[in-house]
Amino acid sequence: MSDVVELSNYINGEWRSAICEHWIEDYSPANGSLIAQIPCSSSEDVDEAVLAASEAIEDWANLTIAERADWLEKIADALESRAEEVAQLESLDTGKPITLARSVDAARSVANFRFFAEQGREFESEIFEMSDATNRVVYKPVGVTGLITPWNLPLYLLSWKVAPALLMGNTVVAKPSEMTPMTASLLAEVMEDVELPIGVFNLVHGNGLDAGAPLTSHPDVNLISFTGGTATGREVAKSASSGFKKLSLELGGKNATIIRADADLDEMMPSIVRASFLNQGQVCLCGSRILIHESIYDSFVKGFLEVVSDMIVGDPSDDQTELGALISADHRDKVMSYIELAEEEGGDILCGGGAPVGIPQAFENGYWVSPTVIDGLAPDSRCATEEIFGPVVTLHPFSDDDEAVEIANMTDYGLAGSIWTQDVDAGGLMAERIESGMVWVNCWLHRDLRVPFGGVKNSGVGREGGRWSLGFFSEAINICIKH
Ligand code: NAD
Repeated sequence: MSDVVELSNYINGEWRSAICEHWIEDYSPANGSLIAQIPCSSSEDVDEAVLAASEAIEDWANLTIAERADWLEKIADALESRAEEVAQLESLDTGKPITLARSVDAARSVANFRFFAEQGREFESEIFEMSDATNRVVYKPVGVTGLITPWNLPLYLLSWKVAPALLMGNTVVAKPSEMTPMTASLLAEVMEDVELPIGVFNLVHGNGLDAGAPLTSHPDVNLISFTGGTATGREVAKSASSGFKKLSLELGGKNATIIRADADLDEMMPSIVRASFLNQGQVCLCGSRILIHESIYDSFVKGFLEVVSDMIVGDPSDDQTELGALISADHRDKVMSYIELAEEEGGDILCGGGAPVGIPQAFENGYWVSPTVIDGLAPDSRCATEEIFGPVVTLHPFSDDDEAVEIANMTDYGLAGSIWTQDVDAGGLMAERIESGMVWVNCWLHRDLRVPFGGVKNSGVGREGGRWSLGFFSEAINICIKH
């Protein structure tokens, strides 16, 4: 018990327990041990945080965007000086490999603040001239923002919202996932260390119903940016819509990886494997359905299985580890239930299908599923169309581009996808026919932070990223002056 960390809310520049003094337990995915306790906040704690954020808004909004960009830079510097700590905490809290936590989570969290600082410095309001008048667009803060984030990329996704929210003059109440609270608390420490004006950034820990829902329905919260599952997003949308809050929903995905007959299999294989299993397949953008041209189906499957079956699954703190543990026992059980369903639906498990063999004793109580490849399922089966969000991919042959597009679009989700081909023109044309917010051709998760990010269909509403974030986190007001 001595190593169990007790985390607090950060409200109005103070560290506070939940008013009800109840706690939520946070477990290590790798070995199932208790690692932290967080406040089980309720609407009273949310009220206090929203009040603090409301009181801080005027002074913060009165700064120039360049001054707020300087604050983001300060936050980035302070976060960068603690990058290894961020990586260690993220790996401990999520079960992801430490190398991934360093190269993706820690690095990108700093990059998010630096990127939006730069966006702020370059920011220019538009002028639209008429023959007899000038229109000047002014970007005003929206007010108090409620930022709700999931467990798969905790600080990466939180910083992606906090940075543009602060830049555009808003104040923040953040509600991170109760399963991965640690780096949100570290971010609050950073805000305190850099002496960000009190009340500008507030952190409320807790679960979705007790702490998240009161934030989405709070009358003094003007904007909700939510990243999480589609079913939760539906509840968030209902709750936020009655108060006409600005709303962005980044939701689930079931993304297709399309391999055309002319793809260079040797060259692309490491990227396809990465797209399938990064973060144990717990990235909303992961390609969990691989569609392969029938002429290369057998050779692709052989090469894919050779790489996948050699992946190193285990101790997240080991630099050699490629796949860690799943986030929770419940999530492991959900993933396993889909593997069982796949067998009922007529699928063949080509590799994986359960906990890895030979996991060291120290990790026996962790939540493990080895990388699993399933063949033989109909493309419209439940396993091939519902989000599993784990290390599970299904394989499907197609005969021509039309059929590949038809299968890719055979799901209610529409977040991302990738196409692999030596004919980049054909790949680009095919990309336009995929119903999703983002399509990569011959790459995956190759991110330029200036581009729009978001989903169509059940994968979300709205876009964030670059100027789309600046637009979302502000109110564009037009002032028309007659000459
Ligand atoms: P989740 O929906 O269970 O929880 C997300 C957050 O919402 C958590 O902080 C949770 O406490 C909170 N929450 C739960 N119920 C709530 C309610 N009624 N009102 C307000 N807040 C509530 O999602 P998760 O399991 O943490 O994350 C996995 C999901 O997130 C997957 O579906 C994945 O695809 C999705 N995701 C999407 C993106 C994207 O950019 N589209 C990125 C990462 C993850």
